[in-house]
Amino acid sequence: MISGTTELLAIVGSPIAQVKSPHNFNVWFERHGKDASMIPIDLDSGSVDQFIEAMRAWRNLRGCVVTVPYKQDMARRVDQLSDRAKALGCVNVIRREADGTLIGDMVDGDGFMNAARAHGFEPKGARALVIGAGGVGSAIAWSLCEHGATSITLTDLDASRTQRLRALLATHYPGVVTGSDFASLASFDLVVNASPVGMSGHEMLPLPPEQMATLNAGVLVADVVTSPDVTRFLEVAREAGCRIQTGAEMALAQFGNLGAFMKMTPLEA
Ligand code: NAD
Repeated sequence: MISGTTELLAIVGSPIAQVKSPHNFNVWFERHGKDASMIPIDLDSGSVDQFIEAMRAWRNLRGCVVTVPYKQDMARRVDQLSDRAKALGCVNVIRREADGTLIGDMVDGDGFMNAARAHGFEPKGARALVIGAGGVGSAIAWSLCEHGATSITLTDLDASRTQRLRALLATHYPGVVTGSDFASLASFDLVVNASPVGMSGHEMLPLPPEQMATLNAGVLVADVVTSPDVTRFLEVAREAGCRIQTGAEMALAQFGNLGAFMKMTPLEA
């Protein structure tokens, strides 16, 4: 129940009806008797500046989870960024300090890594293929480098995105080998779809079936898409004997990181 004393969190994007965070957060708040609530905000694209100003002035707002399409827009407008959010040019969480200062971070990669570790994946020394070099693909690739992966192969329909991300990783993680060429999936320890391919209504694969047929059993295959829960990509991987990780698992696994950033610890799924 929201009352006059309730502290608010928001999730902002457009569209917003599909997001699961309000449910996850509000169930947790209720279970732990916390006088807090998360609200969804479907923001008009012409009003990002006004929204940022409103956040600065909004005293009972703890912060905001940021989703598509505002991760880059908001990163340009907050007052302070973590090193990784600055490098990636992207935020998925903003905390409001008591004086109205807005601080941004990008914890998508943490969520991915928590979920992957829970599947027994060891990032140190790993060779990974990341399909999609946009916001979430960049965060995953960064996190893999941060945790000791030795090689990251990147592929995207838009070659300029792969080039930009490779250059960024080469600057911050010069020891990691990055590439874009691969014929087979046999050499990878991890294969991640970080593109929207496979969302409900688009039952496509992000890689050709001939390439999917080269997956080795036992490899971890992950998808960032949250609906459907098990995408066609994951179904094919499972049939090939691979371990699979869903987009929902990744989203849930960053719950604790979001809570810690918002200074709402301990916040666990
Ligand atoms: P984005 O638009 O920034 O990036 C998507 C990238 O995928 C683009 O660079 C695009 O060119 C590329 N792409 C599209 N089709 C492709 C294909 N066939 N092959 C290779 N690359 C292709 O979007 P984003 O913010 O990175 O989000 C991507 C997806 O991740 C969305 O579906 C989003 O809902 C989901 N997501 C999930 C979580 C989670 O916790 N599970 C978190 C954030 C985002």
